[in-house]
Amino acid sequence: MTIVLQAYRFALDPTSMQEVALRSHCGGQRYAFNWGLALIKANLDQRGAERSYGLADTGLTPSVSWSAYGLRKLWNKAKDAVAPWWAENSKEAYSSGLANLATALGNWNTSKTGTRKGPKIRFPRFKGRHAGLSCRFTTGSFGLADDRRHVKLPRIGVVRTHESTRKLARHVERGTARIRSATITHRGGRWFCAFSVEIHRSDPAPSRPDSVVGIDLGIKSLAVLSTGEVIENPRHLAMVSRGLRRLQRQAARRVGPDRHTRRIASSRWRKTQSRIARLHTAAANARRDGLHKLSARLVRTHGTIVLENLHVAGMLRNRRLARHIASVGMGELRRQITYKTARVGGALHLADRWYPSSKTCSACGAVRTKLRLSERTFHCDQCGFELDRDLNAARNLAQLVCEVAGGMSSPSCGATRNEPDGNPRKTRTTRATGTATGRPTRSTPRREAKAHDACTRAS
Ligand SMILES: [Zn+2]
Repeated sequence: MTIVLQAYRFALDPTSMQEVALRSHCGGQRYAFNWGLALIKANLDQRGAERSYGLADTGLTPSVSWSAYGLRKLWNKAKDAVAPWWAENSKEAYSSGLANLATALGNWNTSKTGTRKGPKIRFPRFKGRHAGLSCRFTTGSFGLADDRRHVKLPRIGVVRTHESTRKLARHVERGTARIRSATITHRGGRWFCAFSVEIHRSDPAPSRPDSVVGIDLGIKSLAVLSTGEVIENPRHLAMVSRGLRRLQRQAARRVGPDRHTRRIASSRWRKTQSRIARLHTAAANARRDGLHKLSARLVRTHGTIVLENLHVAGMLRNRRLARHIASVGMGELRRQITYKTARVGGALHLADRWYPSSKTCSACGAVRTKLRLSERTFHCDQCGFELDRDLNAARNLAQLVCEVAGGMSSPSCGATRNEPDGNPRKTRTTRATGTATGRPTRSTPRREAKAHDACTRAS
């Protein structure tokens, strides 16, 4: 039994009155965010100007607190003057905007000082009218209604959901889940309510704990497993591309917005845009659904999963491949497998980014120097072994772990592995918590070293 933080998201079906209230809360959130940002900007500018006149730091205008708590105190003092309508919305709407601002300022600050990893974070910007609508409730009476068809939200009331809330409701009734917050969002023409839930999960262990599966991700087929199973690429984006093209032509004939002439978009243009958005949403939903089903099945069956550590963000920079890679969702599949293996207590191994899984012979281990992308069948120069290219790669990935655990026999055709210099084979694991005791069956010193750091179990 583990406690995890998990989100349950339900599509809402609000009445028109409730929709007005939902919009109003999101607007209130935006207003508070912009108000706080203006306050902090003015304060920073004031202090900067004073400093430029040579004032000592102690003589400057006092700085405004950047914490959510401090901002909320200032807001409560000022709200009667700046937003006399504040009582129309739950106070949570304004708190959520100020909390978001505090987070954004904190991210910018830690990024500037170098304590935050990842890309540089810019100073927060004002949210315009077209910013995404969202608002979070952390206190007050929110949660599920008893009939498993409605959610309760402060000030907004009891809102009907499109699907049943049964799964979460059962957890709450059993006392195995605690709802921490509720976030409403508007995406692709639909309202959602996402509950952040602290939940006691007891997922069954993989049905075949000793099984090791290597997965070769690709574009032609979504994935090829070392067991020989091929998962076809469902090509969700291609399915809707005809409709998309038609709508995009239609949008081009209609009057869109123009920043230079300050022309406002026509309502017909906006209507077409929302239809385009709906198609993209449909494709994305179908893709996510398929990936969840695949990752769940893999994680429930196999004890150990070996994936390539693909540089997906880098591959997306290739403009010939970007659309296809994004359409497959490789990064998303890896993300799902990562957190799901941790839940069931399985192991996930990421092969080194430079490990030549496609160029290595899965029978004798010889590495070919060149393999064109157009060669769909792998042919070994050393032992004459022939196999489908992707299946060969998947088997190599699986063997990375098999060698270590001693679970599989040594390469069959007796040839020596000719590893090219400067191409050391390493594997990296996502969660290193322990080292396996398995002994390699047959290995050179270098492979042994690799073998030992390769096999660590995810918790
Ligand atoms: Zn071979």
